[in-house]
Amino acid sequence: MTSLGTASAAPGEIDTGRLTIGETRDGTPVGLPVAVVNGRRDGDTLYVQAASDGDELNGVGVVSRVVPQLDPAALAGTVLVVGIANYYGFQVAEHRNPIDDTKLNRTFPGDPEGSSSERIAHAVFEAATRADLVLDLHQGSTSRMIDEVRVRCGRHHRLHRDCLELAKAFGCGHVLDQKGPEGQLARVASDEGIPAVDPELGGAVGWDETSIERGVRGIFNVLHHYGFLDGDVDLSRQTRARGFDRYGAPAGGLVDYQVDLGASVERGDALFRVTDVFGTVKAAVDAKNDGVFWRTRRLPQVATGEYVCSVGTSIDTY
Ligand SMILES: [Zn+2]
Repeated sequence: MTSLGTASAAPGEIDTGRLTIGETRDGTPVGLPVAVVNGRRDGDTLYVQAASDGDELNGVGVVSRVVPQLDPAALAGTVLVVGIANYYGFQVAEHRNPIDDTKLNRTFPGDPEGSSSERIAHAVFEAATRADLVLDLHQGSTSRMIDEVRVRCGRHHRLHRDCLELAKAFGCGHVLDQKGPEGQLARVASDEGIPAVDPELGGAVGWDETSIERGVRGIFNVLHHYGFLDGDVDLSRQTRARGFDRYGAPAGGLVDYQVDLGASVERGDALFRVTDVFGTVKAAVDAKNDGVFWRTRRLPQVATGEYVCSVGTSIDTY
């Protein structure tokens, strides 16, 4: 029998339930929605989590489509799923947990007697550290972003190669290989000896079908590559960035992009212009370095100095 919260599944079974994390302001018990898929055959354990950031819904779309397709009779090993990690942020579609105004993905490994986010982090980290592989499904928040996978352990980490392999197996096409900030699940789980990555499934608001479909495929790629399911996947070369150039607006107005998301840019290429309301160009911004046009703000209006876009830099493939 394998359990996560109230979900309990014998070999060959699947169950869903709740993982208690405390009580709401009116004293109602709160449990994160969890699933256990216990394969008929022995094998490794995969941990999957979505909505660590409460406004990042594509991962919830992935989980809601992957779990019904998982057949425990065909599975070797176990898949543990936390469908919504940032419970309170999800209720109000906000990035941070509104109970403590904290980003959950800066609080790992958590604290069972800490703030609301630290308690959630502790509860889900206990589940994640039972696994052999960790996938923490994110997206570029509400900005527009390409589909990519982030390797957060850092290049000198003993698990760097393993995390790169997991990112390649997931197979979004792009990988950001850059050490993450403290308290990030993908970094802290790697420190515990578990290969862990953040698939970043696009961006914007609501559900993006293309990114959700890529996430579904990514999870099945991982299940095949690591032997949870029969049949191998052909790993395709990934375009890797090892840095980011961030661009701000030199003037206030409306942003007019000169490049499509995902396009390669060379140093000196026009990236965007800022116009006034009547279309008069006030400023033009060129790429400082070669790279891939990675992320942009969602709304067109900007104040001077406000974030506009990012270019992934130090590009290679692996
Ligand atoms: Zn996120």
